[in-house]
Amino acid sequence: MTAAPEPIPLAPPDVGEAEIEAAARVIRSGWLTHGREVEAFEQEFARFVGAPHAIAVSNGSHALLLALQGLGVGPGDEVITASHSFIATADAVRQAGARPVFVDVFAVTGNIDPERVAAAVSAQTRAILCVHQYGMPADLEALGAIARSAGIALIEDAACAAGSEIRMGGHWERIGRPRGAAACFSFHPRKAATTGEGGLITTGDAELAARLRLMRSHGMTHPAHQRHTAAQVTFERYQIAGFNHRLSDIAAAIGRVQVGRLAHNVERRRALAARYMSRLADIPGLTTLKEPDWARSNWQSFVVRLPDGVKQRSVMQALLERGIATRRGVMCAHREPAYPRGTWRCVGQPSCDCAAGECHGLAVSEAAQDRMLVIPLYPQMTEAQQDRVVDTLREVLGA
Ligand SMILES: *Cc1c(COP(=O)(O)O)cnc(C)c1O
Repeated sequence: MTAAPEPIPLAPPDVGEAEIEAAARVIRSGWLTHGREVEAFEQEFARFVGAPHAIAVSNGSHALLLALQGLGVGPGDEVITASHSFIATADAVRQAGARPVFVDVFAVTGNIDPERVAAAVSAQTRAILCVHQYGMPADLEALGAIARSAGIALIEDAACAAGSEIRMGGHWERIGRPRGAAACFSFHPRKAATTGEGGLITTGDAELAARLRLMRSHGMTHPAHQRHTAAQVTFERYQIAGFNHRLSDIAAAIGRVQVGRLAHNVERRRALAARYMSRLADIPGLTTLKEPDWARSNWQSFVVRLPDGVKQRSVMQALLERGIATRRGVMCAHREPAYPRGTWRCVGQPSCDCAAGECHGLAVSEAAQDRMLVIPLYPQMTEAQQDRVVDTLREVLGA
């Protein structure tokens, strides 16, 4: 009997001795909460993406919520966004008290269609919250133009997009360099760089940055670590109503190591993605996402669209039994019990019969959830592991 081959995980974080050392250094220092490490992490991430201001927070969901609230989004407002995203995107809008307006995505990129965004703008619209889904850049040029002409904010859900690039005005630039009002990152272990739990907002707006720094720590004027090291006794004030959305210095120290390795890891992810694309190209009916010529993904997740008539769940089960972890394509918030009709709005299509409850406004999003499959990709993945994923997928699909 031959031993079963080692299972291939979906996306284990790339962490090791350097991260352990960094965390240990902070623990030995005796200063564990928000302090110098967070400040250094913010500066290093800001330099990496090319942003003047970076504000680290407790996770990507809070980054979205603070960006919305910091820009004045609240009850009575609408925010145009994708339903086809991790639920945190829509949840942030609702946590801010506003109503999500869902628009459909392009099948080839997974990102919202600017024409549909333009059609969704109403008198209540306060912001566009676009998602760089799976790390694939959304069309910031078109979305920025819509936001400017409507006089509303463009916020980027860049949770998955650390290290992704977009060509703007003839130059390749990293996502996070300010183009809209703010870009929000996550450092959850599934993302391209991790701090365990963590998030960060980049912006070019100094006033917004100052407000966000107050908001993330109870509106406090002098953070604890500044008072702690001051030669003069200082009393803090509480300028605005805020709350605790702080990142710890332990997490930030891990993040500094991760950011240092990010460019290298993104190159590795891109090489693996290119290899997947060439090796999967001849499977009949199977397709992958495509980068527009102005976008370079970081391939935070690699998704394939299954051929017609193939059952997503059975393919996933067969792969699982052969030791290969997968996930279905990203969810659609509007299909979850937490999002009954009335909690959101969508823009109808000519084929909709809204009165009869027949909605085609999010048909591409729904098909993507049902037909897409996330397959393993991580920087430490070997070519042999990748070949096993390809061969097994081929076998399971009978191709
Ligand atoms: C992961 C993710 C988030 C939330 O980030 P957390 O750090 O887990 O709170 C938000 N939006 C998208 C698109 C994500 O993938």
